[in-house]
Amino acid sequence: MQRILFHSTIFGPIHSRRLGTSLGVNLSPADGKVCSFDCLYCEAGFNSQGAGSAGLPSRADVSRLLEEKLAAMRADGVSLDVITFSGNGEPTLHPHFADIVDDTLRLRDCYFPMAKVSVLTNSTRIDRPDVVAALKRVDNNILKLDSAIDATVSLVDRPNAASFNVAGLLERLKEFSGTGIIQTMMLRGEWEGRCIDNTTPLEVEALIEAYRAVSPKEIMLYSLDRATPAKSLVKVPQEELEAIAARITEATGIPVKVN
Ligand code: SF4
Repeated sequence: MQRILFHSTIFGPIHSRRLGTSLGVNLSPADGKVCSFDCLYCEAGFNSQGAGSAGLPSRADVSRLLEEKLAAMRADGVSLDVITFSGNGEPTLHPHFADIVDDTLRLRDCYFPMAKVSVLTNSTRIDRPDVVAALKRVDNNILKLDSAIDATVSLVDRPNAASFNVAGLLERLKEFSGTGIIQTMMLRGEWEGRCIDNTTPLEVEALIEAYRAVSPKEIMLYSLDRATPAKSLVKVPQEELEAIAARITEATGIPVKVN
């Protein structure tokens, strides 16, 4: 079984094709996965591997470990483009997410004031005012929207909550109109006998309507990069991503980055 990628709270720096030289902050356990989705393409594996036994890192530990790493990087003359919340699950599930964001912004200002702070979120917790406010304090809030069709979201992202639906999500995403970045994973394949393809004209037109409604400052399209727990998934070629991006920008006027 494919398992978690990150075995520490602070990881990297790594070179991210989307973000540059990135130091990662993993607010999930170092030996397990905690997420409100269970995406077929999750590089950290399926939720069925369990949450491990280490527990969530405490706010104090995240701050201490991050400061130690930033101080060492500065002493070594290492450059840094971005501190990125990602890791083995959904960072906004941490009960002290908002406080940890504030600690991180303070440490960034102290050690690498030119670096950005980014949060990769699956958008399931933006029904909470404290999470929304914290996401608005970071430089890049990168919010997942893989499809604007409920059946595709259920098939690909597999939300834990049966009540999760696209209409509700789009209403909540409007909080980030003009400030948020919507990230969409494009992929094909099959799962349990059902075909997956969110690049069809029907899917792309539904996404265009959704992007129009939310009006983010930017859209990121990407496809598979590493091994996925569902083995039948197929990467969408770069040229196709670029053609879809051009169609979206033409229809919405919103800039689209392809990674
Ligand atoms: S939302 Fe992110 S961490 Fe959660 S299952 Fe999907 S890809 Fe993995």
